[in-house]
Amino acid sequence: MTAPGAPEAAGGLAGPGGPARPVILTVDDDPGVSRAVARDLRRKYGERHRIVRAESGDAALDALRQIKLRGEQVAVLLADYRMPEMNGIEFLEQAMDIYPGARRALLTAYADTGAAIDAINVVDLDYYLLKPWDPPEEKLYPVVDSLLESWLSADHRPVEELKVVGHRWSARSSEVREFLARNQVPYRWYPSDEAEGKRLLDAAETDGMTLPVVITPDGEPLVGPSDAELAGRVGLATTPSGPAGLGAAVYGASEGLRTVLVERTATGGQAGQSSRIENYLGFPDGVSGAQLTDRARRQATKFGAELLTTREVTGLEVHGPARIVRFSDGTAIHAHAVILATGVAYRQLAAPGCNDLTGTGVFYGSALTEATGCTGHDVYIVGGANSAGQAAVYLSRTARSVTILVRGPSLRKSMSHYLVEQIEKIPSITVRTCTEIAEAHGDGHLERLTLRDRNTGGTEVVDAQWLFVFIGAAPLTGWLDGVVHRDERGFVLTGPDLAAGSERVAGWSLDRAPYHLETSVPGIFVAGDVRAESAKRVASAVGEGAMAVMLVHRYLERA
Ligand SMILES: Cc1cc2nc3c(=O)[nH]c(=O)nc-3n(C[C@H](O)[C@H](O)[C@H](O)COP(=O)(O)OP(=O)(O)OC[C@H]3O[C@@H](n4cnc5c(N)ncnc54)[C@H](O)[C@@H]3O)c2cc1C
Repeated sequence: MTAPGAPEAAGGLAGPGGPARPVILTVDDDPGVSRAVARDLRRKYGERHRIVRAESGDAALDALRQIKLRGEQVAVLLADYRMPEMNGIEFLEQAMDIYPGARRALLTAYADTGAAIDAINVVDLDYYLLKPWDPPEEKLYPVVDSLLESWLSADHRPVEELKVVGHRWSARSSEVREFLARNQVPYRWYPSDEAEGKRLLDAAETDGMTLPVVITPDGEPLVGPSDAELAGRVGLATTPSGPAGLGAAVYGASEGLRTVLVERTATGGQAGQSSRIENYLGFPDGVSGAQLTDRARRQATKFGAELLTTREVTGLEVHGPARIVRFSDGTAIHAHAVILATGVAYRQLAAPGCNDLTGTGVFYGSALTEATGCTGHDVYIVGGANSAGQAAVYLSRTARSVTILVRGPSLRKSMSHYLVEQIEKIPSITVRTCTEIAEAHGDGHLERLTLRDRNTGGTEVVDAQWLFVFIGAAPLTGWLDGVVHRDERGFVLTGPDLAAGSERVAGWSLDRAPYHLETSVPGIFVAGDVRAESAKRVASAVGEGAMAVMLVHRYLERA
């Protein structure tokens, strides 16, 4: 018997030594309903999952904390919407802090569906279920099946105990953490100069000269692993690319094309680095880039797209109707059509010292993974566009102060109005206009910056351990030299932009003009930021990915 409101574990606790079954937690203030949901869940999932039920949001949160302390996993949270004191949305919001990876569903009465729809954005709700859920075979189980499936594919990888031992100021340690974080691989970080880190290095029988050392869940140390090695060892077969590539993969696969999405390094492209995208359609409360692209990855996989990760494309060749995509490891794929969605890469700061200190205090776009390291420190951000603004807002939550350095006289020309307003309201953020970095100094890691006033030429040296740079980006399209036409900055020209004044596109042999997103080579298309004159926004990248697929269909029909 359990006290009213106290959580009750159905199906028993894990026995000593055996791995705990991932939890499905249900919370409903009506004891009858609560018992009935738990009974139905237990009937189908009791063997593989521990069903925990609670009769109030507070009791459910207590249960989650205990489960967390025991190091167990929570797969699904199923909350009633109408509960006194704490409603289902409020509960799920707090539960997200404890178990961000758990899938979330709300149980609602018909009259509350409006609230449930709102919750899709507030707590990133996966589903809402209408009461009554009878028969469970039709209404409850398909939903829970799908929640479990997506939880298993995204979070239930055998890597909970992955350990990364590294040095705060080792560039490669930083890269590896960012790689894992962007791929949503949970890991624990152990500084190599602290007791536990030293102990792990000893146990791994390494001298700590090559860092980081990544210790797999089954205890195997990987000394200074490459991204490809890491991906292989932690079972990352399914990491996504940028929004344009993902958009094309989802539409390509769902429209019946055999689709392969190739990604060089991390997840989500640039969007994966955005702490909060607020202008993407359908997400009025914003969505993190990692969340958005992870959902897209699941969608692409669901439709049957094949995702190849840590594979860099280094060549594209045209042999009759074949378009051959070559990889850096010497392998290749033959395709009928190719969509280039390679986006852009960060432009580097030219000031002396910055190059040497990259990854050891000077970071390009990696504000998210480094945020905890910045706690209580003074942070500098270079750049005046939205990415710099978002990073400033994000880092201001943990840093002692954030200083945005802008070359121009104001942020207003380059940054969205809503972000400028947010920044003005955060007291710990200072904006220094007409200021640039003259030099970065440090022995092994960033220690000081020389700032130059662009009006007076006067300089000032400030102590600084953290510098995040967001000064725009350039396409890395050198490998397309001699294959497709590009503009003077390297962006790939398509459709009407190819002719630019002349009647015919040089080298174009067909009796039709290139389609809107088609390059100077028939059957090679472009979507997203790498396209000349593109909008440089997530929504337009996704849209172009979808549109490129439609044009591929048209091309294949007439080829
Ligand atoms: C910090 C930040 C915040 C942003 N915030 C917003 C926002 O709030 N709203 C908004 O609309 N836009 C925002 N943007 C812009 C938005 O992210 C981009 O417009 C969008 O990501 C472009 O998508 P893409 O797929 O064209 O390119 P990318 O996102 O750049 O993706 C390209 C992908 O291709 C891969 N790749 C490149 N070359 C190769 C190769 N040779 N072989 C294999 N793979 C390769 C890259 O690794 C990358 O994953 C932001 C950008 C940044 C950096």
